[in-house]
Amino acid sequence: MNQKRKWMIPLGMWMVFETVAVVLWLTKNNLFYLLNFSYIGTAIALGLFLFQMNYKHARRIVQLLVGLYMLIYLGFICQENMQIEGFWYYLFTGVFEAATIHYAVAKIIGPLLFGRGWCGYACWTAMVLDFLPYKTPKKPRKKIGFIRYITFAASLIFVAVLFLCHVGHIEKIMFWAFVIGNVLYYGIGIILAFAFKDNRAFCKYICPITIFLKPMSYFSLIRIKCDKEKCVSCGKCKQVCPMDVDVTDNSRKRKNGTECILCMECVKECPKKAL
Ligand code: SF4
Ligand code: SF4
Ligand code: SF4
Repeated sequence: MNQKRKWMIPLGMWMVFETVAVVLWLTKNNLFYLLNFSYIGTAIALGLFLFQMNYKHARRIVQLLVGLYMLIYLGFICQENMQIEGFWYYLFTGVFEAATIHYAVAKIIGPLLFGRGWCGYACWTAMVLDFLPYKTPKKPRKKIGFIRYITFAASLIFVAVLFLCHVGHIEKIMFWAFVIGNVLYYGIGIILAFAFKDNRAFCKYICPITIFLKPMSYFSLIRIKCDKEKCVSCGKCKQVCPMDVDVTDNSRKRKNGTECILCMECVKECPKKAL
């Protein structure tokens, strides 16, 4: 890879985040947005640069830098509920702040550009699950993806009931919902990973956020494509894919196409540099 490209890709991504940072800072008149999105953009740009330098833990570094920042600083210290309940909460209050902006950037509009990059590089749930031993699924995929609709509906009903019943101290409830929600996500995620021998089982079957992520990432500008001229159909890319994506099929309708988390394991594994 030429030297120019090594810098251009991280720089391009950094500029996207910096644009978001500056626009939100100026329109919301809040310095937090400048610092927040600058930090996240810089962490992602650093990871992309390390990846291009063939550093094998590049993705994990970004995941820890962004995931820990969001979980500990934004979640526990600033007490912002960045889980899906927080999104509903701000949506119901009609305030375009915190979780609503986070969802718009990372999970609704952003995936049109970078697909499910959030899932590969920033999610604090997957940050922990990716430490577990089943990096590639050891069992076939189950047909229980409908559970994500139940968790999605449950989160919406939970917040709607709080509003409809005019429950007091709702901000405190949202903070505790964040704490308890995370404990549940980690607990269920770890149990499922061991039961299904698949670190990403929680992502595949339970996570309510995929209701936003999957349809938006279908149209993603950034996606892994296969150069059919180079590919020798060895199948190594599919063996290492944590999300069971049929990555050699270039169509947008490819099997599990909206599951790709851009982890680049297939790219690293391909002996012909066809991806
Ligand atoms: S599917 Fe859900 S839990 Fe998994 S990485 Fe994406 S947002 Fe996180
Ligand atoms: S291995 Fe390739 S196809 Fe599979 S999730 Fe990672 S980047 Fe996407
Ligand atoms: S690893 Fe490379 S050569 Fe082998 S099937 Fe995948 S894209 Fe083709």
